[in-house]
Amino acid sequence: MADEQTHFRLRILWGLGLVCLALLWVRLFQLQVLRGREYQEKSQANAIRVVEELPGRGLIVDRRGRVIVENRPSYSLTVIPSDIRHSSGTLMELATILGTPQEEILSLLPKGGLPAYQTFKLARDISFPTLASYKARLLDLSEVGYQFEPKRFYPYSVAPHVLGYIGEISEAEKARFPNKKAGDIVGKQGVERKYDDFLAGKKGYRYLMVNALGQAVEDLDDEYIPPQSSGKLYLTLDLELQYLAEELMAGRRGGLVALDPNTGEILAMVSVPEFDLEVFAGVLRSSDWQQLQADPSIPLLNRATQSGYPPGSTFKPMTLSAGIEEGIVGPGYRTFCSGGYTLGRVYHCFKKEGHGTIAPIEAIEQSCDVFFYQLGHRLGAERLGYYLHEFGFGQKTGIDIENEITGIAPDKKFFDRKFGVGKWSPGLVLNVAIGQGEVLATPLQLAHYCGIMATAGISATPHLLLKMYQKEGGVIEYSPDLHRIRIKSETFAIVREGMRRVIEGERGTARRFRDPRWQMAGKTGTAQNPHGDDHSLFIGYAPAENPIIAMAVVAENSGFGATVAAPIAVNIMKRYLEIAFQPDSLSQLPDSLLQKLSSAGLYKYPKPHAAEALTGAAGDSTVRTPDEAD
Ligand SMILES: [Zn+2]
Repeated sequence: MADEQTHFRLRILWGLGLVCLALLWVRLFQLQVLRGREYQEKSQANAIRVVEELPGRGLIVDRRGRVIVENRPSYSLTVIPSDIRHSSGTLMELATILGTPQEEILSLLPKGGLPAYQTFKLARDISFPTLASYKARLLDLSEVGYQFEPKRFYPYSVAPHVLGYIGEISEAEKARFPNKKAGDIVGKQGVERKYDDFLAGKKGYRYLMVNALGQAVEDLDDEYIPPQSSGKLYLTLDLELQYLAEELMAGRRGGLVALDPNTGEILAMVSVPEFDLEVFAGVLRSSDWQQLQADPSIPLLNRATQSGYPPGSTFKPMTLSAGIEEGIVGPGYRTFCSGGYTLGRVYHCFKKEGHGTIAPIEAIEQSCDVFFYQLGHRLGAERLGYYLHEFGFGQKTGIDIENEITGIAPDKKFFDRKFGVGKWSPGLVLNVAIGQGEVLATPLQLAHYCGIMATAGISATPHLLLKMYQKEGGVIEYSPDLHRIRIKSETFAIVREGMRRVIEGERGTARRFRDPRWQMAGKTGTAQNPHGDDHSLFIGYAPAENPIIAMAVVAENSGFGATVAAPIAVNIMKRYLEIAFQPDSLSQLPDSLLQKLSSAGLYKYPKPHAAEALTGAAGDSTVRTPDEAD
């Protein structure tokens, strides 16, 4: 009985739904086809004017809800192009208000394409004096209107490469955004572009009846379609960690990525040098744009996802994994390092006098090159290549911002293609085994690879979106994309012990950065660079057991990994552990950053022990011992 009733109710609901749908269809047809034609006709007689109303663009907040991108009001002057083409008086007034010659105003108007009744944004983000001057002449300027337009505002001025910016749609972008027309605002880079559909909201339309003089005489309220602003977009970034990372990377060139290896959530992503988002907040001046384009340091390039670097010794944990999986490296495996390995020519270890007899875990801890030359030689290009791909090199990670590069993971096919079958020296593989030669990886790929080491085999697609709160309610959450790579946990146990000893071992290349509170793991790298000084690299995760953060730092032309990249990474990892496990501790933050955080309202200043400055980072004068040189 109850069932029958439910069934009956469902049918009624179903029926009602159908009726509603049908009504909607009729209304749409009326508006778009019948009324559209009517409006078109009337507008030709200058009777109807369509005024667009823009919604506020969605807010962007960090993982804890702190607003990092919001909106400020700005105003645009709008015209009906055909009106001012045919009214020399209006044109003259406009030229005075805007301080722009009449010819230039005419040249700004769209060449056809726009329906006669549609308004066009002649000048965006006008100053208040300009707006006031327009309003004073309002009576003589009935063909000219103004429109509220949200403008981006960045309260913390962080993460320009992640956030990206917005601007008017270009001709080339029309295919990417089929629902937008000339003059519309779209995301140009980063999150603003990737999630433009969500952030943009929906435009509203007001229909005005105007008389022959162009003066609005009636607002057609019935036809009004209000704009719908978007909701809130939560990023995976941690604002404070991002702030710290940018501070530590300032003044250098390179990239930094920190992520949660268990989920792929990106906690901080930095590319330096940065650009000032403020330049893009309103209307971009062409002089600013040209300056950014011509800057030899390429500030618009996102080095974290778009620059390939030789990974150097940060590759050695991958090579060792391959050796163990392939049965080459067993429990008693040892190599003798005399300081060089001969294959056609001598390949040198960074330690000239050699490491002597060395076991796998020590080879990671002390970064012996000869150990890995020999292992690379025995593996060969085909087998080593398989593991390169397994750890995600030579392919996009799938991060949710556009234009990520694949880097280069040289396998046998690659060498055959580049040099011809049988025409290349096996010595090329020796270089790949230590992260040199043909191999190129982005900082993002290195962080992702480090995350696989951290979790002993989980590959989590890196991503920046945490969740989207829709205005009408409802939350869309990002569900992590995880898979386990085909490497045994016993293999990871050995490799991870080597990485732990890089920081915790007596001879570890980054042992200076130990912290009594937590054990950490990592690998230093110093990559030769044919175009200048060596790059400094570090990958690391923490805590050494059950890690919650994995990361990679590349500092271009900065010398040894242990000198520059390692202290930056270690400071970020420590701070994240403090946030997670000791939320009241501020001991690891430098004074300058605390002041910044404090003025941004993130902290109360001063901290209890302000004297305890950042350990090992900028201005570090500690003398390096020879075995820390890599
Ligand atoms: Zn050696």
